[in-house]
Amino acid sequence: MVLAELGGRISRALQEMTNATVIDEKVLTACLNEISRALFQADVQLKMVQTMCTNIKKIVNLEDLAAGHNKRRIIQQAVFNELCSMLDPGKPSFSPQKGKPSVIMFVGLQGSGKTTTCTKYAYHYQKKGFKPALICADTFRAGAFDQLKQNATKANIPFYGSYTETDPVKIAQEGLETFRAEKCDLIIVDTSGRHKQEAALFEEMRQVAAATSPDLVIFVMDGSIGQAAFDQAQAFKQSASVGAVIITKMDGHAKGGGALSAVAATKSPVIFIGTGEHIDEFETFETKPFVSRLLGMGDWAGFMDRIQEVVPMDQQPELIQKLTDGNFTLRLMYEQFQNIMSMGPLNQVMSMIPGFSSELMPKGREKESQAKIKKFMTMMDSMTSAELDSTNPKLFAEASRVMRVARGSGRSVRDVTEMLEEYKRLAKLWSKMKGLKIPKKGDMSAM
Ligand code: GDP
Repeated sequence: MVLAELGGRISRALQEMTNATVIDEKVLTACLNEISRALFQADVQLKMVQTMCTNIKKIVNLEDLAAGHNKRRIIQQAVFNELCSMLDPGKPSFSPQKGKPSVIMFVGLQGSGKTTTCTKYAYHYQKKGFKPALICADTFRAGAFDQLKQNATKANIPFYGSYTETDPVKIAQEGLETFRAEKCDLIIVDTSGRHKQEAALFEEMRQVAAATSPDLVIFVMDGSIGQAAFDQAQAFKQSASVGAVIITKMDGHAKGGGALSAVAATKSPVIFIGTGEHIDEFETFETKPFVSRLLGMGDWAGFMDRIQEVVPMDQQPELIQKLTDGNFTLRLMYEQFQNIMSMGPLNQVMSMIPGFSSELMPKGREKESQAKIKKFMTMMDSMTSAELDSTNPKLFAEASRVMRVARGSGRSVRDVTEMLEEYKRLAKLWSKMKGLKIPKKGDMSAM
């Protein structure tokens, strides 16, 4: 089961409970059973799931809840909190500072996605204004240097390696000297992988670490191994003083939930997850926003991060003001579509916006969604300014308006109606956000 599916099942279980007229013990138990089944199937440890359910039942004592309390909200919040504490490693990891040189060493088994992830990591920080560089200290796998070189060239990141030198320690040292001289502030060392955890691999890691004194050692792990992640993360953590973990291949694998919870159980901070082969398919991992998105609640912090990357600084306060003042006009929807289109990988951005993810853009159908949004925008181009700025929900009850927009954009009346339905759905959702204070990073309590 992929994570999107897990999230879908959990939020459906919560939704079903919400639909029940009365929430009693039976309804709560059915809801928790369904959530537990979904978590088992995503390979999460039995013990963890049991603990979670016991805790929720303890918190949500239905009989004790005074009448008038919003039981549904309390239960939803309890599920949210329990999932968060299940995944929270409890301590942050080293974080690179712009302009302050740091060395990051990547370790992991062959095939885990280490080389791909090195470039994704470098690219992530390059976009934030860092000056990253990549060193290939993997002399074990033939073709490792070529792969890193190719990835780095595509992303326009300086790289260092050798086709002839067989000593990874020497390459790492030379690379470090080169990039220190070039004033790079994030020097990333890719080490060799091997097929299994063996003494030679750990010894080589120790030697490279001794020669480069990394500020952080990142362990890259394949998310499709599920609960086996626990032993692997533990072994690497002990042998290579691993300070953070990146879990890859979280895009299409049944065991992603298992890997994540298993790593969390080792109390190692997961800092990023890989969600595809492309350089952009890489997400910062923070527990609360992640769980929030898993439950279909949207990820405000991630969304605001993206907004800050694409919306000019001077327009940001205005946009936030407009989004939260409760008047979601067609023009605002149009502007949101424009932002989404310029914010890059549609699927990642959409899943961050409360309300947009599930219906307008079902997972795996991003291309169609993009075409749909473009279609919506061409129809909106045929509207008058007064229509775009109107806050009157009945405005388009006049058939002649709908027909005029359809004619003007060369679309059918049905298409225009579909677009207006989408607008109504979003407007309803955003009206609930009226006066909402957009939470700061990591603080989802306002949700
Ligand atoms: P290394 O041997 O650990 O350096 O692994 P590579 O970087 O060569 O990656 C192994 C394979 O996994 C390649 O085909 C990558 O494209 C693929 N890969 C890496 N990360 C991800 C990810 O997050 N999702 C998916 N679907 N594939 C990935």
